[in-house]
Amino acid sequence: MTELRPETRAVHLPRPVMNGSRPISVPLYQTSGFVFDDPEVFADGMGRPDGAFVYGRLSNPTVRSLEEAVAGLEGGVGAVATASGMGAINSVLLGLLQPGDHLIAQEALYGGTAAMINELARRFGVAVSHVPEDDPEALRAAVRPETKLVYLETIANPVCQVADLPAMCAVARELGVTSVVDNTFASPILCRPIEHGADIVVHSTTKYLSGHTDVLGGIAVFADDAMYRKVWHFAVELGATPDPFAAWLTLRGMQTLPLRMERHCANARLLATRLAEHPAVAAVHWPGLPSHPSYTVAGKLLPDFGGVFSFDLKGGRPAGEHFMSSVRLALLAPSLGGVETLILHPATTSHRSLSPAELARHGINEGTVRVAVGIEHPEDLWSDFAQALS
Ligand code: PLP
Repeated sequence: MTELRPETRAVHLPRPVMNGSRPISVPLYQTSGFVFDDPEVFADGMGRPDGAFVYGRLSNPTVRSLEEAVAGLEGGVGAVATASGMGAINSVLLGLLQPGDHLIAQEALYGGTAAMINELARRFGVAVSHVPEDDPEALRAAVRPETKLVYLETIANPVCQVADLPAMCAVARELGVTSVVDNTFASPILCRPIEHGADIVVHSTTKYLSGHTDVLGGIAVFADDAMYRKVWHFAVELGATPDPFAAWLTLRGMQTLPLRMERHCANARLLATRLAEHPAVAAVHWPGLPSHPSYTVAGKLLPDFGGVFSFDLKGGRPAGEHFMSSVRLALLAPSLGGVETLILHPATTSHRSLSPAELARHGINEGTVRVAVGIEHPEDLWSDFAQALS
């Protein structure tokens, strides 16, 4: 070829070649596509999640590192990373359900998931039933010939009911129904649902897995290879794929997940215990407290009880509003799982699309405040809460 002109050289940049060393951290492959020497390898990569990297919506090395890391932590055979937690949940629900199918979900669900399940019932011809998260006999009674999925959350939002995963997943498996568990609140440090019989685990990696309130993401992890490939095909057609930079930030955050979880749980224990003794507080919902209805189930399933809890103030909504506008260190903000302590009012924010009856089913009232405890010094947090309650 003749000497290239500047216009061509500017486009075709030199590509790095590994020359006897390799990076310590996972590199960010911020590219939307890949170059091939062999057309057959190109064609093969289009059709499967574990072939050559082809096009960013199908696969990317940084994203695959994240998928392998989370599949490894959860004990799955494969994982599909997505651009948000809802991307993962919808890839699983829409990828596996069809009109005429029946879905059984636990009663208390993350608001976005509850809204999507309502949509499936209203617009896509999927029948939906609800059962308590800790009642395997109710689940057995609800299963019909057309039941395809059982949907559970390890720790539910915001009053922290803990699902009896071994018992519920055993019934699902016995009756040939696929079980899906949202493990966002527990993270794989506190619970690995596949070890308890779950078929699919979903996460909002926006939360504990990334951990720094700077990235959105989701992931679905599979115990079964065929199901993994089926959902991968659907997710890439749906366009649920994450950007490589989001995957890179998530991987970076995940390296400190075990340390952060330890501190989140310890801080939540201190705040929940002291709030439970405070005269302005009617109830505290954290499964590590003996007063919580899930205390026994949680004690068998989890080594510690997570960094999220909620509490009801005796003065109802006005007291809740006063508390939320009086905190100085905790931030009034959505989301959870980051290093900062965040609080919110579920009835008007995360669960606003629910009817009063559905709110009651979730255990939420007008005075409920949710706390996503960060990793600050616990006494600084307690001083802030105490002044806001006074
Ligand atoms: N699952 C749970 C338990 C959540 O709390 C959330 C978000 O708050 C989601 C799923 C949805 O995740 P995302 O906001 O990343 O779509």
